[in-house]
Amino acid sequence: MDCDFISLATPGVQGLQPYVPGKPADELERELGLRQVVKLASNENPLGPSPVALAAAQQALGSLHLYPDASGYRLKTALQRVHGLAPEQLTLGNGSNDVLELLARAFIRPGDEVIYSEYAFLVYPIVTQASGATAVVTPARNWGHDLAAMQAAITERTRLIFIANPNNPTGTWLSETELTAFLDAVPASVIVVLDEAYTEYVQAPGFPDGLALLARYPNLVVTRTFSKAWGLAGLRCGYAAADPVITDLLNRVRQPFNVAGPSLAAAEAVLEDHDYLARTIATNSAGMAQLEQGFRGLGLDYIPSVGNFICVDLGRPAGPLYQQLLQLGIILRPVGNYRMPNHLRVSIGLDVENARCLQGLAEVLSA
Ligand SMILES: *Cc1c(COP(=O)(O)O)cnc(C)c1O
Repeated sequence: MDCDFISLATPGVQGLQPYVPGKPADELERELGLRQVVKLASNENPLGPSPVALAAAQQALGSLHLYPDASGYRLKTALQRVHGLAPEQLTLGNGSNDVLELLARAFIRPGDEVIYSEYAFLVYPIVTQASGATAVVTPARNWGHDLAAMQAAITERTRLIFIANPNNPTGTWLSETELTAFLDAVPASVIVVLDEAYTEYVQAPGFPDGLALLARYPNLVVTRTFSKAWGLAGLRCGYAAADPVITDLLNRVRQPFNVAGPSLAAAEAVLEDHDYLARTIATNSAGMAQLEQGFRGLGLDYIPSVGNFICVDLGRPAGPLYQQLLQLGIILRPVGNYRMPNHLRVSIGLDVENARCLQGLAEVLSA
């Protein structure tokens, strides 16, 4: 007799849709027998890894037979030196996705409410639903977070609020004035998770540094990652910075060896690679300008972005065009699952990659 395993799963997991990542380049190469695929779909750093990080990871390979340092002492010390964060404020994660999940595990249960915005990062609905909590999704304003609506949505059941600044996939951002006015109004018992995965890219005046706000707001949790500007997506390392008591709770549910040794070593080393970060930001600014100009030339609207990606409006359902671009060896990111059916998200690449993307768009739009 067969068992209906679905019915055994928790109610939240039963209805869960898995996260759909960007299509891997080698998968497309296998499927279509193509070479030289351009993937601008996962907001990865187009420069490749920092040589400094690579050397540190390689050196750490000699200790592969050992468990990594469960406390992450050296990386935490480096973060303390760079950002002034105490080790008691830091939770290291297997990517920042890991700490987002630890937050859900530690703080939300069925019946609780979690607030996030329309067009917010899909990991927030996933961790919310998996915990059996109730998602309260506030409408966006100009594609960004409407903090007044988020504030109005707070009830006595609200446990967590997720805010990405800048937001993925829209690239919109909140100023320090807007954010602090919101944080001033949030009850102390509601934890605000400020996801700063793309903070290193932002040069807009008035853009806040969440880490500098921690002292003022004990209910604030800031998450950061080494996956984007720091170019270490494949090694999976991120962290949360928060009040020591919140941090202690997160570390109770964290698996002891959740970050691998080479990842810890590479993350520690890359924090010193100022040249890599500067090249990353310069490449991104130039690539963003190149894509914006190209989109305008094609008569396409786009959502102005401060991240390392930009959503372009194709003015018609993007799905078929996404498929046609795949045939040309160009992988962009559909955002229909964010309820943005006419947009594609383009990660900023190298000059030649951006040019191929624009050329491909011109081709499929005129077909
Ligand atoms: C990419 C991204 C992350 C980082 O994920 P990692 O697990 O650290 O690789 C976090 N939040 C947002 C909004 C992102 O887009």
